[in-house]
Amino acid sequence: MENDCLFCKIANGQMDTRFLFENENLVVFRDINPHAPVHLLIVPKRHIRSVNDLTEVDSAIVAEMIMTAKQMAKAEMVDQSGYKLLFNVEKGGGQVIFHLHLHLIGGWKK
Ligand code: AMP
Ligand code: ZN
Repeated sequence: MENDCLFCKIANGQMDTRFLFENENLVVFRDINPHAPVHLLIVPKRHIRSVNDLTEVDSAIVAEMIMTAKQMAKAEMVDQSGYKLLFNVEKGGGQVIFHLHLHLIGGWKK
């Protein structure tokens, strides 16, 4: 766990954030500033700064994040209508929280 990392604190249960899903490796919660009717964040418990910092040993957690996103899309009933999965990478890519997270965005009206 990284000092002063908001998502380390959230993922390790030190904030009041309500989890939609949690297991030993990751948590899922709603984005506080949603860009769409459904906007979830899939966040590993282990601190990884960004996609740039992924190494071979992180392959399993990345796969688990994507498989969890797929399940959450179904649970939020946006799987059939469609959704976006997004990693912002570093400042120029729009990343503001430097703890790896996958955005699941969807639920727009037809
Ligand atoms: P990014 O721009 O990819 O780093 O995305 C960070 C996201 O975290 C933004 O969409 C924020 O709205 C969201 N966020 C920041 N603080 C919180 C929080 N306390 N709880 C939930 N989402 C948050
Ligand atoms: Zn962190």
